[in-house]
Amino acid sequence: MCEFCLKHGEGKKWYLQVSNYSDDLLSDVRRRRFIETFFTDTESLERNFRRVEQLEKVPGFIRGIVKRVITRKAKKVHYGQVVPIEDIERIFGFVNSIVRVACICRHITLGREKRYCYGVSLAPDGGRLGEIIRGLDKSYLSGPDMVGMEELSKEEAISDLRSHEQEGLCHSVWTFHAPFIGGICNCDRSDCLAMRCTVTHGIPVMFRAEYVAAVDPDQCNGCRECMRVCQFGAVSYSVSNKKAVIDQRQCYGCGICRSVCQKDAIRLEERSKVSVAASLW
Ligand code: SF4
Ligand code: SF4
Repeated sequence: MCEFCLKHGEGKKWYLQVSNYSDDLLSDVRRRRFIETFFTDTESLERNFRRVEQLEKVPGFIRGIVKRVITRKAKKVHYGQVVPIEDIERIFGFVNSIVRVACICRHITLGREKRYCYGVSLAPDGGRLGEIIRGLDKSYLSGPDMVGMEELSKEEAISDLRSHEQEGLCHSVWTFHAPFIGGICNCDRSDCLAMRCTVTHGIPVMFRAEYVAAVDPDQCNGCRECMRVCQFGAVSYSVSNKKAVIDQRQCYGCGICRSVCQKDAIRLEERSKVSVAASLW
């Protein structure tokens, strides 16, 4: 289990602990301020990301120290974890409000509004999280779809997330000052700052999922669709066997490869039971 399961999950998956979504956690002023700044000060988010990119030019030992500091801070304020769709469905089973909002990352990287992020709350009307977001200056929404928050039913939200899987986006949950979880995002390696930070620059700001994928060679027909959608370069193709092969040390356990496999040849296994991946987060 990841560090957050041990710290915030009482030995279970931390993002399935109902208390981590509690409105009461938003009585903490620092947490509220962080959410307000996060959604409005996109310039500082972009500036920080440019600094991360610049780190590549810094001598290795300094880079190593700075990377560890960034990860330590992120774990306190805004850290994510990759989550497969069945666990997102479990989360949707106990939250009482789901709203779709514009993605800040895509605002920065694409300069366009993409509605890939979902706010979740135990309160039926979005509770304090909804109040905070409704009260923000949303001038970063460049339109044309400038409605701030769209309320969705659980069925609509899960259907959206299934469509995002078809686009090759991987689901993740996000804290706003751990352990409070307020958001579910749909990430990809080119446009999501967190994935670029974690995968491209080697500065983790999100955990891998609690799972890893494996291919059943008896089912696989070698079509390579799974290779096409894997954001983490974990799938290769065995020319001699004419089958896909997943490197479980590279796999983030998102399960997106399953959504494009017509042969139902890929399954997720508990990371803790797969020795080569159990300690990789
Ligand atoms: S998508 Fe499925 S059938 Fe196609 S290569 Fe991957 S595992 Fe095999
Ligand atoms: S191989 Fe692993 S990381 Fe790649 S899409 Fe499948 S589950 Fe995700």
